[in-house]
Amino acid sequence: MTPFGTKEEMPPEDMYVKMQKQMVAMPLDQIMKKVSELKTMCICPQCPTNNECAKNAKETLFCSTGRSFHCITENKGCLCPTCPVANQMGLKYQSFCLMGNEKAQRFDAMLKM
Ligand code: SF4
Ligand code: SF4
Repeated sequence: MTPFGTKEEMPPEDMYVKMQKQMVAMPLDQIMKKVSELKTMCICPQCPTNNECAKNAKETLFCSTGRSFHCITENKGCLCPTCPVANQMGLKYQSFCLMGNEKAQRFDAMLKM
């Protein structure tokens, strides 16, 4: 049996995994700066699924923060595949405000394999 946490159990190192490793290795102030930069690039505010409640609560960057806390409940389409953050961070999934962040959706998909 392979011990937990060995390279054999690591997910394939695609662009998302590489970017997450880079982020984890950054000092906290640089992580905060990067997150602010990504927030300014997020196009969720223009999405038909987004709503006033989410805007007022300043909910954004769902691909990182996960599901909308209590505002978004209905999927009216998702702009994530066209977002520059998706390209830069190597995201595979979408509808993060309803389905959970990229990390959660990848984990869910892994459990179904
Ligand atoms: S991929 Fe989606 S959730 Fe992530 S920043 Fe872009 S629009 Fe926002
Ligand atoms: S995560 Fe996707 S569906 Fe949700 S608000 Fe952002 S662009 Fe729209």
